[in-house]
Amino acid sequence: MSACYALTAAEKPCRNYASSTGERERPHTCRHHAIYFTTKTLDEWKPWFWNLERAHNSIRRNHIESALRAGLLIVTREFVASLRVRRSYTYFLLLCARWQRGFSYSWNEPLYELSVKQLWIWSSAIGPVAITLNDIHTMIQESPTKLFYVVLALYPHEDTYIYSAFQWSLFFQSCKQKEWFDSLYHYENHAAKIQGIIEYLDKKNYNRVFLEFLRDGEFTRWFAKSKALYYIELTGGLLQELKHEILGYSWMPERMYDWCLTKDERERLVAWSSKPCKN
Ligand SMILES: [Zn+2]
Repeated sequence: MSACYALTAAEKPCRNYASSTGERERPHTCRHHAIYFTTKTLDEWKPWFWNLERAHNSIRRNHIESALRAGLLIVTREFVASLRVRRSYTYFLLLCARWQRGFSYSWNEPLYELSVKQLWIWSSAIGPVAITLNDIHTMIQESPTKLFYVVLALYPHEDTYIYSAFQWSLFFQSCKQKEWFDSLYHYENHAAKIQGIIEYLDKKNYNRVFLEFLRDGEFTRWFAKSKALYYIELTGGLLQELKHEILGYSWMPERMYDWCLTKDERERLVAWSSKPCKN
């Protein structure tokens, strides 16, 4: 039996066990909170979504994340589109990207972009919530061939927050471990997109670390090598599969005879098989 997902009127976690109300196979609320998630509209929930990263909002933060993960709170495209472009929604947007099925950056692009910038800043800072590279990946995974480059260009270059070249290489290594990164190997505009970011950074005259990291060719060489290894692995796997199929198909006496033996071998085999048996 799991605990009730609702909060009490004093915003404390309910201590009751969840009990079946007959509506869901797996109950998430106690009988007392049976309609907890069904009566409040998204607009009524809205103040709960502000500043979820703050220390005093840890109960709300866990509450909203659990509800989104369990599908008890369903955020719609219209609702996200209606949100004002404010930093206070950053953590909420991250939770939507992490748990809301069908969530798309296009639901509110300006808010998405502001949130990505804020997540980059938090990823370099110590705070009540630890923003990791995985959270940056979460903001990319929905549409990597678009968002990978958007997220890179959104890195804030104010002097306070600067990734070193080493941190950038760690970031790209961590991207490579993710399944979504494979789609970049097939993306024909990759080089042009990276060149676009280089030109953008150069024009803005931001902090030069990231610009030099992209421009000195280290990243390009790393990507080309990763791509080559990816294709070797991919074609190696396909050939292995094909080999088993061909061997399986050819392992019939008639096919072996026709395909695998030379003329001499065939004649010898016929001569040998036509000899009378000594026994
Ligand atoms: Zn309860």
